[in-house]
Amino acid sequence: MPHITTDVLIIGTGPAGSSAAALLSTYGIENMVVNRYRWLANTPRAHITNQRTMEVLRDLGHEVEAEAYLHATEQELMGENVFCESLAGEEIGRMKSWGTHPLSKAEHLLSSPTFMNDLPQTFMEPILFTTACKRGTQARMSMEYLRHEQDSDGVTTTCLDRLTGEEVTIRSKYLIGADGGNSLVAEHEDLPIEGKMGVGGSMNILFRADLSKYVAHRPSVLYWVMQPGADVGGIGMGLVRMIRPWNEWLIVWGYDINEPAPVVDEAMATEVARQLVGDPALEIELLSANTWTVNDAYATQMSKGRVFIMGDAAHRHPPSNGLGSNTSIQDAFNLSWKLAAVLNGQAGTALLESYDAERAPIAKQIVTRANQSIGEFGPIFEALGMTGGTDIEKIKANMDARCGSDGKAEAQRNALNESIAFKKYEFDAHGIEMNQRYTSDAIVSDGLPAPTFELDADLHYQPTTSPGARLPHVWVYDAHGAKHSTLDLAGNGAFTLFTGLGGQAWATAAETLGAEMGISLRVCVIGPRQAYIDHTGDWARACEIGDAGCILTRPDQHVCWRSTGMDDDPAAQLRRVLDTVLAR
Ligand SMILES: Cc1cc2nc3c(=O)[nH]c(=O)nc-3n(C[C@H](O)[C@H](O)[C@H](O)COP(=O)(O)OP(=O)(O)OC[C@H]3O[C@@H](n4cnc5c(N)ncnc54)[C@H](O)[C@@H]3O)c2cc1C
Repeated sequence: MPHITTDVLIIGTGPAGSSAAALLSTYGIENMVVNRYRWLANTPRAHITNQRTMEVLRDLGHEVEAEAYLHATEQELMGENVFCESLAGEEIGRMKSWGTHPLSKAEHLLSSPTFMNDLPQTFMEPILFTTACKRGTQARMSMEYLRHEQDSDGVTTTCLDRLTGEEVTIRSKYLIGADGGNSLVAEHEDLPIEGKMGVGGSMNILFRADLSKYVAHRPSVLYWVMQPGADVGGIGMGLVRMIRPWNEWLIVWGYDINEPAPVVDEAMATEVARQLVGDPALEIELLSANTWTVNDAYATQMSKGRVFIMGDAAHRHPPSNGLGSNTSIQDAFNLSWKLAAVLNGQAGTALLESYDAERAPIAKQIVTRANQSIGEFGPIFEALGMTGGTDIEKIKANMDARCGSDGKAEAQRNALNESIAFKKYEFDAHGIEMNQRYTSDAIVSDGLPAPTFELDADLHYQPTTSPGARLPHVWVYDAHGAKHSTLDLAGNGAFTLFTGLGGQAWATAAETLGAEMGISLRVCVIGPRQAYIDHTGDWARACEIGDAGCILTRPDQHVCWRSTGMDDDPAAQLRRVLDTVLAR
């Protein structure tokens, strides 16, 4: 007899596990989450929180979204991405990042009702975890996953209760391994991981010191320090990262992975901090120091039977582009509604296979992008003449050369400007964050070719209602004049059918079908004197369907089907689509 039974057992309370628990509880699914430690993240690893993640938090409830903004450093303070000799030393260049460049800001505002922000993991995890527990998740801390076995009816997992030293068995219908980059769940299921772990060595030094005088006039999350050795290991360059403006910081400094990891004691941490800040008398309050390795690996399969992996368990990569926790939370958003639909008897188990089909390509994409970003610091070092060894005098002379008035110096300055601007692929890559489009059996083709990206898909988000894409955000208005994002009308654990004034037959069919099939299927007619009014015409321009057409979104706000016009038999058509999407 198992000691505990639940529907879904989640290993790990990181961004992936806590968000899965929060979403499942919100959908009314019994779940339990365990963590081998006694509390949540104790270091502020993830921080850049992108708009898509904020949309997941908004979907969890406006109070969850509001709490995130309350603790976050706002976007306006994130963007003066500085490259310098040291914080006190010469500034070498700068680029507006994280949606703060006026052109990029416009794209952010047009794309989402939410704002990018800087929310350290030490704040994000408690928000997700408490949301989960408040809504019904059973959580056990100091509970270490040891092993599991799955059979045709469920999964039996054995954990070690670290407080009593006793083994505890938990029987669940499904198991989620959200147990991080060294995932035992992935290992025990023998899920295939491609790539390499440990491709670079890095250290984190977390400390308190008031650095306002060096940074407050050029507010940023990231200050990149170019000193000899800064391109060894790590994440491409030495980094002084803001945790709290402007008195809490994290230094990321690389070491040669072929050498043993250094022991980062207080003396070494202080020395590195003084060197990167450029103040030999700097006093720091050291909070923690540790070493970690840069990984370049992703799962090509994220589930087997009743067992799923998500987050770093499936994608293991450096923090470049700030995609780790974001993608982890988005994995959870993809899987949770599917588990809920299957457990509630609304969908066939084959729906769960679409998790793999939809999220494994994203895992590969973000791991590749993040590792590529490390290499793209290279041209900055080259432009400055910092790649020819560690002879400080020679490096200084090469750097000084850019200040000359001759053509060679001008060319050097041009190369430097270009190489810094190119880093938008790491620091302003809105497309990577927002363009996720799915292909799977849970997406039904509308018979039209999938739209190609006209702009650079890494840099620019391109809205479309083509099946597989996330529903575009547009503000529409209710009869009282209050504005609502189209994304707020979708999601919330339900399917939503959007149509116009000519689509009454779709609306009627959806209302009947929802009740008949026992699924939550909302109807949203947008038009004059309807529940939502398109005063600006933005929806008419964004929806890519005629007034008599319809768009069907899933609970994760992705379009699963659309019809550009009316059908001869809308009820039959809609039933066919829902049966396919839900694998019924
Ligand atoms: C310096 C740095 C900066 C970063 N910056 C960003 C950023 O700006 N934006 C971003 O999105 N990402 C960033 N990341 C990445 C981000 O931290 C990770 O991607 C994220 O934490 C992954 O979440 P996760 O829930 O998958 O795993 P984790 O956060 O690693 O959580 C794993 C959980 O599983 C538990 N666990 C593990 N093994 C067991 C076991 N056997 N039994 C029980 N419990 C277990 C752990 O205790 C933990 O609760 C950064 C990372 C670093 C190192």
